[in-house]
Amino acid sequence: MSTSPKKVVVIGAGPVGSLAALYFSHANWEVELYELRGDLRLPENLSLNFSKSINLALSDRGIDGLRNVGDNEVLLKKVLEETIPMHGRMIHSGKPSDKGMSQGYDVHGRFIRSADRWKLNVQILDALAERGNVKMIFNHGLRKMDLDAGEVEFENTKTKESVTVHTDLVVGADGAHSATRRLLQKNVQMYYEQTYIDTLWQEYHIPPHPITGDFQLSPNHLHIWPKQTYMFIAIPSADKTFTCTLFMSPSLFAGLGKSREKHLAFFKKNFEDVIPLVGEDALFDQFMRNPRLPLISVKCDPYHYKDRAIIIGDAAHAMVPFYGQGMNAGLEDVRVLFDHLALHPGDLAAALASYSKHRRPDSHCINDLAMRNYIEMRASVTSRAYLARKWVEEMLYAYIPWLGVRTMYSMVSFSSLRYSEVVERVRRQKLWMDTIAGGVVLAGVLGVGFVGLRGKTGVVGTARAV
Ligand code: FAD
Repeated sequence: MSTSPKKVVVIGAGPVGSLAALYFSHANWEVELYELRGDLRLPENLSLNFSKSINLALSDRGIDGLRNVGDNEVLLKKVLEETIPMHGRMIHSGKPSDKGMSQGYDVHGRFIRSADRWKLNVQILDALAERGNVKMIFNHGLRKMDLDAGEVEFENTKTKESVTVHTDLVVGADGAHSATRRLLQKNVQMYYEQTYIDTLWQEYHIPPHPITGDFQLSPNHLHIWPKQTYMFIAIPSADKTFTCTLFMSPSLFAGLGKSREKHLAFFKKNFEDVIPLVGEDALFDQFMRNPRLPLISVKCDPYHYKDRAIIIGDAAHAMVPFYGQGMNAGLEDVRVLFDHLALHPGDLAAALASYSKHRRPDSHCINDLAMRNYIEMRASVTSRAYLARKWVEEMLYAYIPWLGVRTMYSMVSFSSLRYSEVVERVRRQKLWMDTIAGGVVLAGVLGVGFVGLRGKTGVVGTARAV
Protein backbone atom coordinates (compact mmCIF):
# COMPACT_ATOMS: atom_id res chain seq x y z
CA MET A 1 0.00 0.00 0.00
CA SER A 2 1.46 3.36 -0.97
CA THR A 3 1.56 6.24 1.45
CA SER A 4 -0.56 9.26 0.66
CA PRO A 5 1.26 11.22 -2.06
CA LYS A 6 1.58 14.95 -1.90
CA LYS A 7 2.40 16.25 -5.34
CA VAL A 8 0.54 15.94 -8.64
CA VAL A 9 1.64 17.16 -12.06
CA VAL A 10 -1.34 17.81 -14.35
CA ILE A 11 -0.51 17.98 -18.07
CA GLY A 12 -2.81 20.16 -20.20
CA ALA A 13 -4.74 23.23 -19.00
CA GLY A 14 -7.84 22.67 -21.14
CA PRO A 15 -11.21 22.43 -19.36
CA VAL A 16 -10.54 18.91 -18.05
CA GLY A 17 -6.93 19.37 -16.86
CA SER A 18 -7.80 22.70 -15.19
CA LEU A 19 -10.76 21.15 -13.38
CA ALA A 20 -8.63 18.17 -12.28
CA ALA A 21 -6.00 20.60 -10.91
CA LEU A 22 -8.75 22.38 -8.95
CA TYR A 23 -10.05 19.13 -7.43
CA PHE A 24 -6.52 18.11 -6.38
CA SER A 25 -5.92 21.55 -4.92
CA HIS A 26 -9.09 21.29 -2.81
CA ALA A 27 -7.95 17.82 -1.71
CA ASN A 28 -4.78 19.52 -0.36
CA TRP A 29 -2.31 18.17 -2.91
CA GLU A 30 0.58 20.30 -4.11
CA VAL A 31 -0.42 20.93 -7.73
CA GLU A 32 1.63 21.87 -10.80
CA LEU A 33 -0.32 22.42 -14.02
CA TYR A 34 1.74 22.40 -17.24
CA GLU A 35 0.33 23.73 -20.52
CA LEU A 36 1.97 23.57 -23.96
CA ARG A 37 0.52 26.86 -25.11
CA GLY A 38 0.34 30.36 -23.66
CA ASP A 39 -2.03 31.50 -20.92
CA LEU A 40 -5.53 31.82 -22.42
CA ARG A 41 -6.25 34.75 -20.13
CA LEU A 42 -3.53 37.02 -21.53
CA PRO A 43 -4.57 39.53 -24.19
CA GLU A 44 -1.56 38.66 -26.38
CA ASN A 45 -2.89 35.10 -26.70
CA LEU A 46 -6.41 36.10 -27.70
CA SER A 47 -5.52 36.32 -31.36
CA LEU A 48 -4.13 32.79 -31.41
CA ASN A 49 -6.31 30.23 -33.09
CA PHE A 50 -6.60 27.95 -30.04
CA SER A 51 -8.13 30.62 -27.83
CA LYS A 52 -10.83 31.57 -30.34
CA SER A 53 -14.31 31.00 -29.00
CA ILE A 54 -16.13 27.85 -29.89
CA ASN A 55 -19.49 27.08 -28.35
CA LEU A 56 -20.10 23.78 -26.67
CA ALA A 57 -23.24 22.15 -25.33
CA LEU A 58 -22.87 21.86 -21.56
CA SER A 59 -25.18 19.31 -19.92
CA ASP A 60 -25.73 17.59 -16.57
CA ARG A 61 -22.55 15.54 -16.39
CA GLY A 62 -20.33 18.56 -17.02
CA ILE A 63 -22.41 20.58 -14.57
CA ASP A 64 -22.00 17.87 -11.91
CA GLY A 65 -18.24 17.90 -12.43
CA LEU A 66 -18.15 21.66 -11.88
CA ARG A 67 -20.55 21.46 -8.92
CA ASN A 68 -18.51 19.05 -6.86
CA VAL A 69 -15.47 21.24 -6.32
CA GLY A 70 -14.90 24.00 -3.77
CA ASP A 71 -17.48 25.64 -1.55
CA ASN A 72 -21.02 26.78 -2.33
CA GLU A 73 -20.84 25.93 -6.00
CA VAL A 74 -19.18 29.30 -6.66
CA LEU A 75 -17.46 28.13 -9.85
CA LEU A 76 -20.59 26.45 -11.19
CA LYS A 77 -22.71 29.55 -10.58
CA LYS A 78 -20.20 31.73 -12.45
CA VAL A 79 -20.10 29.31 -15.38
CA LEU A 80 -23.89 28.95 -15.63
CA GLU A 81 -24.40 32.73 -15.58
CA GLU A 82 -22.57 32.94 -18.89
CA THR A 83 -24.47 30.15 -20.66
CA ILE A 84 -27.57 30.22 -22.87
CA PRO A 85 -30.32 27.62 -22.37
CA MET A 86 -31.13 25.49 -25.42
CA HIS A 87 -34.49 23.77 -24.91
CA GLY A 88 -34.48 21.72 -28.09
CA ARG A 89 -33.39 21.30 -31.65
CA MET A 90 -34.79 23.48 -34.40
CA ILE A 91 -34.81 21.49 -37.61
CA HIS A 92 -34.53 23.58 -40.78
CA SER A 93 -35.18 22.47 -44.35
CA GLY A 94 -33.11 25.33 -45.76
CA LYS A 95 -36.03 26.88 -47.64
CA PRO A 96 -36.38 30.64 -46.92
CA SER A 97 -40.12 30.26 -46.25
CA ASP A 98 -39.54 27.56 -43.58
CA LYS A 99 -39.25 28.79 -40.00
CA GLY A 100 -38.11 25.41 -38.68
CA MET A 101 -39.58 22.57 -36.64
CA SER A 102 -38.88 22.65 -32.91
CA GLN A 103 -38.10 19.31 -31.19
CA GLY A 104 -37.92 19.72 -27.41
CA TYR A 105 -35.11 17.86 -25.63
CA ASP A 106 -37.14 16.87 -22.60
CA VAL A 107 -40.84 16.70 -21.77
CA HIS A 108 -40.09 17.89 -18.21
CA GLY A 109 -38.50 21.09 -19.51
CA ARG A 110 -34.85 20.23 -18.91
CA PHE A 111 -32.37 21.84 -21.29
CA ILE A 112 -28.76 21.86 -22.34
CA ARG A 113 -26.70 25.06 -22.34
CA SER A 114 -24.53 26.76 -24.87
CA ALA A 115 -21.19 27.55 -23.21
CA ASP A 116 -18.24 29.46 -24.62
CA ARG A 117 -15.29 27.06 -24.30
CA TRP A 118 -12.76 29.86 -23.88
CA LYS A 119 -14.79 31.59 -21.13
CA LEU A 120 -15.40 28.35 -19.28
CA ASN A 121 -11.69 27.48 -19.42
CA VAL A 122 -10.74 30.98 -18.20
CA GLN A 123 -13.20 30.73 -15.29
CA ILE A 124 -11.54 27.51 -14.10
CA LEU A 125 -8.05 29.01 -14.53
CA ASP A 126 -9.18 32.07 -12.52
CA ALA A 127 -10.39 29.77 -9.73
CA LEU A 128 -6.99 28.02 -9.78
CA ALA A 129 -5.14 31.34 -9.59
CA GLU A 130 -6.76 31.94 -6.19
CA ARG A 131 -5.38 28.71 -4.75
CA GLY A 132 -2.17 28.89 -2.73
CA ASN A 133 -1.11 25.32 -3.53
CA VAL A 134 -1.26 25.56 -7.35
CA LYS A 135 1.48 26.57 -9.80
CA MET A 136 0.46 27.13 -13.43
CA ILE A 137 3.28 26.84 -15.93
CA PHE A 138 2.46 27.80 -19.53
CA ASN A 139 4.47 27.30 -22.74
CA HIS A 140 5.78 23.96 -21.51
CA GLY A 141 5.21 20.79 -23.51
CA LEU A 142 5.60 17.27 -22.14
CA ARG A 143 8.57 15.46 -23.67
CA LYS A 144 9.55 12.47 -21.51
CA MET A 145 8.37 10.56 -18.47
CA ASP A 146 10.15 8.08 -16.20
CA LEU A 147 7.13 7.10 -14.16
CA ASP A 148 8.86 4.62 -11.83
CA ALA A 149 11.36 7.32 -10.90
CA GLY A 150 8.57 9.93 -10.70
CA GLU A 151 10.34 12.18 -13.24
CA VAL A 152 8.67 14.22 -15.95
CA GLU A 153 10.51 16.31 -18.54
CA PHE A 154 9.04 19.37 -20.26
CA GLU A 155 10.39 21.65 -22.95
CA ASN A 156 9.96 25.38 -22.53
CA THR A 157 8.55 26.21 -25.98
CA LYS A 158 9.98 29.74 -25.87
CA THR A 159 13.54 29.11 -24.67
CA LYS A 160 13.73 25.43 -25.80
CA GLU A 161 15.22 24.59 -22.40
CA SER A 162 14.23 21.31 -20.82
CA VAL A 163 12.87 21.22 -17.31
CA THR A 164 12.68 18.06 -15.18
CA VAL A 165 10.18 17.88 -12.34
CA HIS A 166 9.56 15.23 -9.68
CA THR A 167 6.09 14.14 -8.77
CA ASP A 168 4.12 11.43 -7.04
CA LEU A 169 1.35 11.36 -9.64
CA VAL A 170 0.95 12.43 -13.28
CA VAL A 171 -2.52 13.31 -14.61
CA GLY A 172 -2.55 13.52 -18.42
CA ALA A 173 -5.31 15.77 -19.75
CA ASP A 174 -3.48 16.85 -22.89
CA GLY A 175 -6.22 16.22 -25.40
CA ALA A 176 -6.91 13.91 -28.33
CA HIS A 177 -3.26 13.76 -29.47
CA SER A 178 -2.03 13.24 -25.93
CA ALA A 179 1.71 12.93 -25.41
CA THR A 180 1.01 11.48 -21.93
CA ARG A 181 -1.00 8.64 -23.51
CA ARG A 182 1.74 7.95 -26.04
CA LEU A 183 4.44 7.85 -23.34
CA LEU A 184 2.20 5.80 -21.02
CA GLN A 185 2.02 3.13 -23.72
CA LYS A 186 5.70 2.37 -22.99
CA ASN A 187 4.74 1.29 -19.48
CA VAL A 188 1.30 -0.17 -20.06
CA GLN A 189 0.09 -2.84 -22.47
CA MET A 190 -2.65 -0.54 -23.60
CA TYR A 191 -5.52 -1.45 -25.92
CA TYR A 192 -5.66 1.45 -28.34
CA GLU A 193 -8.01 2.28 -31.21
CA GLN A 194 -8.08 5.47 -33.27
CA THR A 195 -10.49 6.41 -36.07
CA TYR A 196 -10.78 9.45 -38.28
CA ILE A 197 -14.27 9.74 -39.74
CA ASP A 198 -14.88 10.76 -43.34
CA THR A 199 -16.04 14.22 -42.26
CA LEU A 200 -14.38 17.57 -41.78
CA TRP A 201 -15.81 20.53 -39.88
CA GLN A 202 -15.62 24.16 -40.82
CA GLU A 203 -16.87 27.15 -38.88
CA TYR A 204 -19.18 29.96 -40.05
CA HIS A 205 -20.58 32.85 -38.06
CA ILE A 206 -24.04 34.46 -37.99
CA PRO A 207 -23.78 38.06 -36.68
CA PRO A 208 -26.55 39.85 -34.74
CA HIS A 209 -29.36 41.40 -36.80
CA PRO A 210 -27.86 44.50 -38.51
CA ILE A 211 -30.74 46.78 -37.44
CA THR A 212 -32.17 45.40 -34.20
CA GLY A 213 -28.86 43.97 -32.96
CA ASP A 214 -30.79 40.91 -31.78
CA PHE A 215 -30.35 37.19 -32.48
CA GLN A 216 -31.28 36.32 -36.06
CA LEU A 217 -32.61 32.88 -35.06
CA SER A 218 -34.30 31.58 -31.92
CA PRO A 219 -31.57 31.80 -29.24
CA ASN A 220 -32.93 28.90 -27.21
CA HIS A 221 -32.44 26.17 -29.78
CA LEU A 222 -29.59 24.23 -31.28
CA HIS A 223 -30.33 24.74 -34.98
CA ILE A 224 -29.76 21.90 -37.42
CA TRP A 225 -30.01 21.73 -41.20
CA PRO A 226 -29.85 17.94 -41.75
CA LYS A 227 -29.00 16.79 -45.28
CA GLN A 228 -28.62 13.01 -44.88
CA THR A 229 -24.86 12.80 -45.51
CA TYR A 230 -23.84 16.24 -44.25
CA MET A 231 -25.29 18.97 -42.03
CA PHE A 232 -25.01 22.55 -40.89
CA ILE A 233 -25.61 23.53 -37.25
CA ALA A 234 -25.82 26.84 -35.35
CA ILE A 235 -25.31 27.37 -31.60
CA PRO A 236 -26.12 30.70 -29.86
CA SER A 237 -23.53 32.88 -28.13
CA ALA A 238 -24.06 35.48 -25.42
CA ASP A 239 -23.13 38.30 -27.86
CA LYS A 240 -26.25 37.46 -29.94
CA THR A 241 -24.25 35.72 -32.64
CA PHE A 242 -24.34 32.06 -33.65
CA THR A 243 -21.30 29.85 -34.09
CA CYS A 244 -22.13 27.56 -37.01
CA THR A 245 -20.44 24.39 -38.20
CA LEU A 246 -20.65 22.67 -41.56
CA PHE A 247 -19.92 18.94 -41.20
CA MET A 248 -19.20 17.40 -44.59
CA SER A 249 -16.98 14.82 -46.31
CA PRO A 250 -13.57 15.94 -47.61
CA SER A 251 -14.64 14.99 -51.16
CA LEU A 252 -17.71 17.26 -51.05
CA PHE A 253 -15.57 20.11 -49.71
CA ALA A 254 -13.02 19.44 -52.44
CA GLY A 255 -15.80 19.49 -55.05
CA LEU A 256 -16.52 23.12 -54.16
CA GLY A 257 -12.88 24.00 -54.84
CA LYS A 258 -12.24 27.71 -54.35
CA SER A 259 -15.14 28.72 -56.49
CA ARG A 260 -17.46 31.44 -55.18
CA GLU A 261 -20.18 30.33 -57.64
CA LYS A 262 -20.06 26.66 -56.62
CA HIS A 263 -20.08 27.57 -52.93
CA LEU A 264 -23.06 29.89 -53.34
CA ALA A 265 -24.92 27.34 -55.48
CA PHE A 266 -24.28 24.70 -52.79
CA PHE A 267 -25.72 26.96 -50.07
CA LYS A 268 -28.65 27.97 -52.32
CA LYS A 269 -29.52 24.34 -52.89
CA ASN A 270 -29.13 23.18 -49.27
CA PHE A 271 -29.16 26.08 -46.82
CA GLU A 272 -30.67 28.97 -48.75
CA ASP A 273 -32.10 30.60 -45.61
CA VAL A 274 -28.59 30.80 -44.11
CA ILE A 275 -27.23 33.04 -46.91
CA PRO A 276 -28.93 36.31 -45.80
CA LEU A 277 -28.16 35.53 -42.14
CA VAL A 278 -24.40 35.35 -42.75
CA GLY A 279 -24.28 37.62 -45.79
CA GLU A 280 -23.18 36.46 -49.25
CA ASP A 281 -19.69 37.98 -49.10
CA ALA A 282 -19.03 36.94 -45.51
CA LEU A 283 -20.17 33.40 -46.28
CA PHE A 284 -17.58 32.97 -49.03
CA ASP A 285 -14.92 34.78 -47.04
CA GLN A 286 -15.42 32.38 -44.11
CA PHE A 287 -15.43 29.38 -46.45
CA MET A 288 -12.03 30.46 -47.80
CA ARG A 289 -10.53 31.60 -44.49
CA ASN A 290 -11.62 29.11 -41.82
CA PRO A 291 -9.73 25.85 -41.52
CA ARG A 292 -11.38 22.48 -42.25
CA LEU A 293 -10.55 20.20 -39.39
CA PRO A 294 -10.71 16.42 -38.97
CA LEU A 295 -12.71 14.50 -36.36
CA ILE A 296 -10.94 11.81 -34.38
CA SER A 297 -12.30 9.11 -32.09
CA VAL A 298 -9.98 7.41 -29.60
CA LYS A 299 -10.62 4.41 -27.35
CA CYS A 300 -8.06 2.91 -25.02
CA ASP A 301 -7.77 0.78 -21.91
CA PRO A 302 -6.48 0.94 -19.20
CA TYR A 303 -6.06 4.62 -18.36
CA HIS A 304 -3.52 4.26 -15.56
CA TYR A 305 -0.08 2.95 -14.59
CA LYS A 306 0.32 1.64 -11.02
CA ASP A 307 -0.04 4.54 -8.57
CA ARG A 308 1.91 6.82 -10.93
CA ALA A 309 -0.19 8.07 -13.81
CA ILE A 310 -3.69 8.40 -15.21
CA ILE A 311 -5.14 9.92 -18.37
CA ILE A 312 -8.54 11.66 -18.48
CA GLY A 313 -10.68 13.73 -20.86
CA ASP A 314 -9.95 13.65 -24.59
CA ALA A 315 -6.56 12.09 -23.84
CA ALA A 316 -8.44 8.97 -22.73
CA HIS A 317 -11.50 9.07 -24.98
CA ALA A 318 -11.61 11.72 -27.70
CA MET A 319 -14.96 11.35 -29.48
CA VAL A 320 -16.75 12.82 -32.46
CA PRO A 321 -18.83 15.81 -31.29
CA PHE A 322 -22.32 14.63 -32.27
CA TYR A 323 -23.65 13.87 -28.80
CA GLY A 324 -22.23 17.09 -27.33
CA GLN A 325 -20.56 14.95 -24.65
CA GLY A 326 -16.77 15.18 -25.17
CA MET A 327 -16.12 17.86 -22.61
CA ASN A 328 -19.03 16.77 -20.42
CA ALA A 329 -17.58 13.25 -20.22
CA GLY A 330 -14.15 14.71 -19.43
CA LEU A 331 -15.47 16.88 -16.60
CA GLU A 332 -17.35 13.81 -15.34
CA ASP A 333 -14.07 11.82 -15.42
CA VAL A 334 -12.69 14.19 -12.79
CA ARG A 335 -15.68 13.70 -10.47
CA VAL A 336 -15.59 9.92 -10.94
CA LEU A 337 -11.81 9.81 -10.37
CA PHE A 338 -12.29 11.56 -7.03
CA ASP A 339 -15.10 9.13 -6.12
CA HIS A 340 -12.57 6.32 -6.58
CA LEU A 341 -9.87 8.15 -4.61
CA ALA A 342 -12.40 8.46 -1.78
CA LEU A 343 -13.27 4.76 -2.03
CA HIS A 344 -9.60 3.76 -1.58
CA PRO A 345 -8.11 6.22 0.93
CA GLY A 346 -4.32 5.92 1.13
CA ASP A 347 -4.16 3.34 -1.67
CA LEU A 348 -3.63 5.27 -4.87
CA ALA A 349 -2.79 2.19 -6.97
CA ALA A 350 -6.11 0.59 -6.04
CA ALA A 351 -8.00 3.84 -6.66
CA LEU A 352 -6.51 4.32 -10.15
CA ALA A 353 -7.06 0.66 -11.06
CA SER A 354 -10.70 0.73 -9.94
CA TYR A 355 -11.28 4.04 -11.79
CA SER A 356 -9.84 2.54 -15.00
CA LYS A 357 -11.97 -0.59 -14.69
CA HIS A 358 -15.14 1.35 -13.89
CA ARG A 359 -14.72 4.07 -16.50
CA ARG A 360 -13.72 1.97 -19.53
CA PRO A 361 -17.20 0.63 -20.43
CA ASP A 362 -18.71 4.10 -19.99
CA SER A 363 -16.11 5.88 -22.12
CA HIS A 364 -16.33 3.27 -24.87
CA CYS A 365 -20.15 3.50 -24.82
CA ILE A 366 -20.26 7.28 -25.24
CA ASN A 367 -17.66 7.09 -28.06
CA ASP A 368 -19.96 4.67 -29.89
CA LEU A 369 -23.12 6.70 -29.14
CA ALA A 370 -21.44 9.88 -30.42
CA MET A 371 -20.59 8.10 -33.65
CA ARG A 372 -24.20 6.85 -34.00
CA ASN A 373 -25.69 10.25 -33.21
CA TYR A 374 -24.11 11.69 -36.34
CA ILE A 375 -26.60 9.64 -38.33
CA GLU A 376 -29.44 10.74 -36.02
CA MET A 377 -28.58 14.43 -36.34
CA ARG A 378 -28.01 14.58 -40.07
CA ALA A 379 -30.73 12.13 -41.16
CA SER A 380 -33.01 10.40 -38.60
CA VAL A 381 -34.34 13.63 -37.02
CA THR A 382 -36.56 14.02 -40.08
CA SER A 383 -37.71 10.38 -40.38
CA ARG A 384 -41.27 9.45 -39.38
CA ALA A 385 -40.18 6.29 -37.56
CA TYR A 386 -37.70 8.29 -35.44
CA LEU A 387 -40.26 10.97 -34.61
CA ALA A 388 -42.95 8.37 -33.78
CA ARG A 389 -40.64 6.46 -31.43
CA LYS A 390 -39.49 9.70 -29.75
CA TRP A 391 -43.13 10.74 -29.30
CA VAL A 392 -44.14 7.41 -27.70
CA GLU A 393 -41.12 7.45 -25.35
CA GLU A 394 -41.81 11.05 -24.35
CA MET A 395 -45.52 10.43 -23.72
CA LEU A 396 -44.71 7.43 -21.52
CA TYR A 397 -42.08 9.48 -19.66
CA ALA A 398 -44.48 12.44 -19.25
CA TYR A 399 -47.63 10.60 -18.22
CA ILE A 400 -46.46 7.26 -16.78
CA PRO A 401 -43.03 8.20 -15.38
CA TRP A 402 -42.99 5.20 -12.99
CA LEU A 403 -42.55 2.97 -16.05
CA GLY A 404 -39.02 4.42 -16.25
CA VAL A 405 -39.14 4.98 -20.04
CA ARG A 406 -36.93 7.88 -21.19
CA THR A 407 -35.32 8.79 -24.46
CA MET A 408 -31.65 7.91 -24.71
CA TYR A 409 -30.87 11.60 -25.28
CA SER A 410 -32.57 12.54 -22.02
CA MET A 411 -30.65 9.92 -20.02
CA VAL A 412 -27.32 10.91 -21.59
CA SER A 413 -27.81 14.66 -21.28
CA PHE A 414 -30.01 15.07 -18.21
CA SER A 415 -28.68 12.50 -15.79
CA SER A 416 -25.40 11.20 -14.47
CA LEU A 417 -26.41 7.57 -14.98
CA ARG A 418 -23.41 5.63 -16.21
CA TYR A 419 -23.29 5.73 -20.02
CA SER A 420 -23.14 1.90 -20.04
CA GLU A 421 -26.26 1.77 -17.84
CA VAL A 422 -28.06 4.15 -20.23
CA VAL A 423 -27.31 1.83 -23.14
CA GLU A 424 -28.50 -1.21 -21.18
CA ARG A 425 -31.73 0.54 -20.10
CA VAL A 426 -32.45 1.61 -23.67
CA ARG A 427 -31.86 -1.97 -24.86
CA ARG A 428 -34.37 -3.35 -22.30
CA GLN A 429 -36.82 -0.52 -23.01
CA LYS A 430 -36.67 -1.17 -26.75
CA LEU A 431 -37.20 -4.88 -26.21
CA TRP A 432 -40.43 -4.51 -24.26
CA MET A 433 -41.68 -1.59 -26.36
CA ASP A 434 -41.13 -3.67 -29.50
CA THR A 435 -42.95 -6.57 -27.83
CA ILE A 436 -45.91 -4.30 -26.99
CA ALA A 437 -45.86 -2.73 -30.46
CA GLY A 438 -45.77 -6.22 -31.99
CA GLY A 439 -48.69 -7.20 -29.75
CA VAL A 440 -50.67 -4.13 -30.82
CA VAL A 441 -50.04 -4.86 -34.49
CA LEU A 442 -50.99 -8.51 -34.00
CA ALA A 443 -54.11 -7.54 -32.06
CA GLY A 444 -54.94 -5.10 -34.86
CA VAL A 445 -54.55 -7.79 -37.50
CA LEU A 446 -56.60 -10.27 -35.44
CA GLY A 447 -59.08 -7.49 -34.65
CA VAL A 448 -59.60 -6.68 -38.31
CA GLY A 449 -60.15 -10.37 -38.96
CA PHE A 450 -62.48 -10.47 -35.98
CA VAL A 451 -64.38 -7.39 -37.23
CA GLY A 452 -64.58 -8.92 -40.66
CA LEU A 453 -65.95 -12.18 -39.28
CA ARG A 454 -68.35 -10.58 -36.83
CA GLY A 455 -69.32 -8.00 -39.46
CA LYS A 456 -70.68 -10.79 -41.55
CA THR A 457 -72.81 -11.90 -38.64
CA GLY A 458 -73.95 -8.34 -38.00
CA VAL A 459 -71.93 -7.46 -34.82
CA VAL A 460 -69.65 -4.73 -36.24
CA GLY A 461 -67.39 -2.29 -34.43
CA THR A 462 -66.34 -3.81 -31.09
CA ALA A 463 -62.84 -4.69 -32.23
CA ARG A 464 -62.16 -1.27 -33.79
CA ALA A 465 -61.03 0.18 -30.49
CA VAL A 466 -57.97 -2.14 -30.33
P1 FAD B 1 -8.41 19.81 -24.74
O1 FAD B 1 -9.52 20.77 -24.72
O2 FAD B 1 -7.92 19.33 -26.06
O3 FAD B 1 -7.20 20.43 -23.91
C1 FAD B 1 -5.94 19.79 -23.87
C2 FAD B 1 -4.89 20.81 -23.46
O4 FAD B 1 -3.63 20.13 -23.36
C3 FAD B 1 -4.71 21.93 -24.48
O5 FAD B 1 -4.74 23.17 -23.82
C4 FAD B 1 -3.35 21.64 -25.10
O6 FAD B 1 -2.67 22.80 -25.49
C5 FAD B 1 -2.63 20.95 -23.96
N1 FAD B 1 -1.53 20.07 -24.44
C6 FAD B 1 -1.52 19.31 -25.57
N2 FAD B 1 -0.35 18.66 -25.66
C7 FAD B 1 0.40 19.01 -24.59
C8 FAD B 1 1.70 18.66 -24.13
N3 FAD B 1 2.50 17.82 -24.83
N4 FAD B 1 2.15 19.20 -22.98
C9 FAD B 1 1.37 20.06 -22.26
N5 FAD B 1 0.13 20.43 -22.65
C10 FAD B 1 -0.36 19.90 -23.79
N6 FAD B 1 -17.87 18.65 -26.10
C11 FAD B 1 -19.01 18.83 -25.39
O7 FAD B 1 -19.10 18.41 -24.22
N7 FAD B 1 -20.09 19.49 -25.93
C12 FAD B 1 -20.07 19.96 -27.22
O8 FAD B 1 -21.06 20.52 -27.68
C13 FAD B 1 -18.88 19.77 -27.99
N8 FAD B 1 -18.82 20.24 -29.26
C14 FAD B 1 -17.67 20.09 -29.97
C15 FAD B 1 -17.62 20.56 -31.29
C16 FAD B 1 -16.48 20.38 -32.05
C17 FAD B 1 -16.47 20.88 -33.47
C18 FAD B 1 -15.35 19.72 -31.48
C19 FAD B 1 -14.11 19.51 -32.30
C20 FAD B 1 -15.38 19.25 -30.19
C21 FAD B 1 -16.54 19.42 -29.42
N9 FAD B 1 -16.62 18.95 -28.10
C22 FAD B 1 -17.78 19.10 -27.37
C23 FAD B 1 -15.49 18.22 -27.48
C24 FAD B 1 -14.67 19.11 -26.55
O9 FAD B 1 -14.16 20.21 -27.26
C25 FAD B 1 -13.53 18.29 -25.96
O10 FAD B 1 -14.03 17.05 -25.50
C26 FAD B 1 -12.87 19.02 -24.80
O11 FAD B 1 -12.29 20.21 -25.24
C27 FAD B 1 -11.80 18.11 -24.17
O12 FAD B 1 -11.18 18.80 -23.13
P2 FAD B 1 -9.73 18.35 -22.65
O13 FAD B 1 -9.36 19.32 -21.59
O14 FAD B 1 -9.73 16.89 -22.33
O15 FAD B 1 -8.78 18.49 -23.92
